[in-house]
Amino acid sequence: MNQFLSRRTFILIPTMSILKRIFNPMQVLASSLASKDEWNLSKDEWKSRLSPESYYILREEGTERAFSSPLNNEKRKGVFHCAGCDLPLFLSDKKYDSGTGWPSFWDSIQGSVETKVDFKLIVPRTEYHCSRCGGHQGHVFNDGPLPTGKRYCNNGLALRFVPE
Ligand SMILES: [Zn+2]
Repeated sequence: MNQFLSRRTFILIPTMSILKRIFNPMQVLASSLASKDEWNLSKDEWKSRLSPESYYILREEGTERAFSSPLNNEKRKGVFHCAGCDLPLFLSDKKYDSGTGWPSFWDSIQGSVETKVDFKLIVPRTEYHCSRCGGHQGHVFNDGPLPTGKRYCNNGLALRFVPE
């Protein structure tokens, strides 16, 4: 009996740790809350601050149409800020043309964005959002250029560009 139990435990432990790894990201889904209390605004407060289009992206994790944002072709030097709370997220020298139709960056300003896994398209994708107000920005993929190999695929409506 003891032998049976220990064998079963032996099988269960690795299985559970694998399951935990698979299902843990789903718990993170519930926490797109702002990290700073002053940015935990109500729906109505956000609606009064943002255009309906930006509200849809930032607060409802929407996606704008490809090639619809003027920021896709923005090539000037400057800083891309969160359209929700104005936190600087990306520098223009990390921007590149990914050909996808969305403003793309190979790196973000350190600490400015946080990620979570979403299952909206069934296949898990890594969503990222502003670390201050929790506003949805886009998804990050591993097919970007060196040195990071990352592609931050950002909604233009979630950004505000400040030229240098
Ligand atoms: Zn923000």
